[in-house]
Amino acid sequence: MTNVCTPGETLRILNQFNLRAKKKFGQNFLIDVNIVQKIIDASQITEKDCVLEIGPGIGSMTGMLADAAKQVVCVEIDETLRPVLAEVLQGRGNVDIIWGDVLRVDLRAAAGKYNGGRPMKVVANLPYYVTTPILMKLLENRGCFESITVMVQKEVAERICAAPGSRDYGAITLAVRYYSEPEIVAAVPPSCFIPRPGVDSSVMCLRARTEPPVQADEKFLFAVIRASFNQRRKTLANGVAGGLAAICGKTVTREQVASALAEVGLPADIRGEKLSLEQFAVLSRTLWKMT
Ligand code: SAM
Repeated sequence: MTNVCTPGETLRILNQFNLRAKKKFGQNFLIDVNIVQKIIDASQITEKDCVLEIGPGIGSMTGMLADAAKQVVCVEIDETLRPVLAEVLQGRGNVDIIWGDVLRVDLRAAAGKYNGGRPMKVVANLPYYVTTPILMKLLENRGCFESITVMVQKEVAERICAAPGSRDYGAITLAVRYYSEPEIVAAVPPSCFIPRPGVDSSVMCLRARTEPPVQADEKFLFAVIRASFNQRRKTLANGVAGGLAAICGKTVTREQVASALAEVGLPADIRGEKLSLEQFAVLSRTLWKMT
């Protein structure tokens, strides 16, 4: 079968089907097989695995995934790609396509239907306009996915993998770390896509945790984290005192946050970016008792 993931095949398909990459769906088609191979290697796909591919597009990765895995399930929003995928995936008995928005698909039901409820491996060259909601949906469906290996904008990968205290560290870093162990596995320049995106990209692999790494009421922990980073220039105490009620309906005063910080052994004027996930968990448990 012809490999779609080359500049020549991609242009041929776009011409044959009279297609243009749609900006509104974040379409940038991958044209470098080496990158697809790196994605397959990083996610350690074997013939026993069921892979969920988000946004197969014109099938640039799908054929190689189907060669490596037992089963591939794709979710694609752009129904004008139906004839393309019908041609490109013709004769492949182990690929199924769910047409629709991945944010509306019942992923637990998909894991049940296609993999007997066992965790699947997610692979995607993600549409950049909707990266964070897709990642959070995948992570929050705990137990459905073993790993998530995805192409994202380089800055997003750096934010997700940032160390405490660094400029890129924020609420998304902590949220992803709560559910998984993230790692950047490849840098990808714009020349690897048609059309070329205006930004650099990275492949990132998130290995899902089976248990949370810290003990805390999950909703309240995330509310404290979000409030802490709400306004970057504010201290954590001001951010939490001013923002927690709007996020989760619980009220704490600046003095209560300062005293909780003191109990944890942290200064009252500390900023959110200095705290590790473990420190946020201790702080949120202490604040929880005060509310
Ligand atoms: N996998 C292909 C590749 O690597 O060349 C295409 C990747 S392109 C960056 C993103 C793909 O995601 C497009 O096919 C787009 O139509 C699809 N997409 C965008 N938003 C989506 C959504 N909410 N649900 C499912 N698919 C979506």
